[in-house]
Amino acid sequence: MKISHIEHIGIAVPSLDEAIPFYENILGLKCFAIEEVADQKVRTAFFKVGQTKIELLEGTSEDSAISKFIAKNGGRGGIQHFAFAMEDGVANALGEAEAKGCALIDKAPRKGAEGLNIAFLHPKSTCGALIELCEDPNK
Ligand code: ZN
Repeated sequence: MKISHIEHIGIAVPSLDEAIPFYENILGLKCFAIEEVADQKVRTAFFKVGQTKIELLEGTSEDSAISKFIAKNGGRGGIQHFAFAMEDGVANALGEAEAKGCALIDKAPRKGAEGLNIAFLHPKSTCGALIELCEDPNK
C-alpha cells in the first residue's frame, strides 16, 4: 500500500449554501465543483488547497450518513472523514488492508465524487477515524 498524499478532507455541513461563502469569502478559496452523489445521498462542494481538496458534504436525505453525523453532533457540521490518495489503486490497497485484518465498510471500490474509485475502512479498525482510500487523480 502506498499513499501519495491526502486527497481530501471531508467536512459535513448543514447547508452548502451557508458554508461555501465562508470558504470563499473568509478563507479565499474558490469552489470549483458542486456535485450530487445520489447513492451516498449527499451534495458535495470542492475547493483546492495545494493538491489536497476540501470536500464539503451536505446530506440530501435524513438517512444519509452526513445527516446522521450532523444530528449526532448537535446540528453542527465538522470533520467527518479524510481520504488518502492511493498510488497503486484502491482495489490493491483494500485487499492488502483486509489481508492484514482491517475491517472494511466497502469490500470493493465504488465510484465517489469526481468519478474516482473510493472505499472506506471501518472505524472500528482505525482507532475511530473514518478513513477513505481514494484513487490518485494524478495517476
Ligand atoms: Zn470523501
